[in-house]
Amino acid sequence: MGSYNQTVVLDAIRRSEGLSRVELAAVTGLSAQAVTNICRRLLADGLVREAGTTNVGRGKPRTLLRLTAAARLAVGVHLDPAVVSVALLDLEGVVLAQQRLATPSALDPPHAIAAITAAVDAVIAGGGVDRDRILGVGVAAPGPIDLRRGVVANPPNLPDWHQVPLRDDLAAATGLPVLLDKDVTAAAVAETWWGSPGRGGTMAVLYIGTGIGVGLVVDGEVVRGSSGNAGEIGHIIVDPDGPPCACGQRGCVAVTLAPVALVGRARRAGALGAGAPSDTAGALGVLFDQADAGDLAARRIVDDAAAGIARLGLVVTNMLDLDRLVLGGPYWSRLEPYYLGKGAGEVGAGTAARQIHHVKVLGTSIGEHFGAVGAASLVLDQAFSAHPTALVEDVRHDSPRARSKLA
Ligand SMILES: [Zn+2]
Repeated sequence: MGSYNQTVVLDAIRRSEGLSRVELAAVTGLSAQAVTNICRRLLADGLVREAGTTNVGRGKPRTLLRLTAAARLAVGVHLDPAVVSVALLDLEGVVLAQQRLATPSALDPPHAIAAITAAVDAVIAGGGVDRDRILGVGVAAPGPIDLRRGVVANPPNLPDWHQVPLRDDLAAATGLPVLLDKDVTAAAVAETWWGSPGRGGTMAVLYIGTGIGVGLVVDGEVVRGSSGNAGEIGHIIVDPDGPPCACGQRGCVAVTLAPVALVGRARRAGALGAGAPSDTAGALGVLFDQADAGDLAARRIVDDAAAGIARLGLVVTNMLDLDRLVLGGPYWSRLEPYYLGKGAGEVGAGTAARQIHHVKVLGTSIGEHFGAVGAASLVLDQAFSAHPTALVEDVRHDSPRARSKLA
């Protein structure tokens, strides 16, 4: 999708309420002539439009350029063991249509892929957009994945999924380009794309879904690790006296802080009545309702979980010297009052670098479709973001433009 310089210009326009060519040259460091040429191409492609003028002193009014939100779109598929969420996203992050498919863990991969394909078609039809404007489908899958081959390997919460070539199978079924990444990586991409002012910064996204993982961003670049599986924190111990884990330790994140673990503890402690919902999401809602109402057993479980999340957040924060820790996931609106209260304060006060800089602990601004928005963001990020790696590829392809930029 164009050169490195073009993505730099488009990224600047995208993050603004409208910029003139003069401002773009100042923001990007490109020459006025380069900006003029790039803007001509972006206008011809329909990616930006001229939107009003701004007066600067006595000079000629400057024409503002703005992104055209519906010029290109992306579909996001979040494969969570409890639910598959599919969303159609425009360039401003608006969800134009979405669908949910229940319990993929009960579906074998061929049936799941057929159902996902139908949902992708349905959101494209529901959004009322031309299929040729769809850049592609991003898939956020539970780890471990094989990033290079686009394979979902053996996720612990999807027992029938072994080495499923989901990227290629879904591309064949939909006829669209497909990108596959780990769920927490997609969440981190979404935060750099939509949630942050500018690309800079070092942050972690603590994603609380069926499992708990972190997406990592160092100096504005998402960190995937050597095989796409960075961010596995499920076996960090947060309670040495906690329940035994299949890994042989006690009190791991996976068996202490995962929503299903909280619900199990609540049932055993009698904090959920016999009439409580049998599904994790429903039961978790009742547990937090009980805590709100002052039930002591429920309150203790929720407070212990918040303290565990704070301990986990502190480990991750110190490991990478974060400036920002973002929390989110499908249950986030229910968890937030407890997990961001005392817990966030403990992270801020406990970091090794607390005398040097402040750490912001905050909830995601992306909302309930975080997973699917993250998946769609993978596609937008690959198409439109200016990464230093893109510059390296320009050089590899021996582009005269890239060489002159480096010279
Ligand atoms: Zn463990």
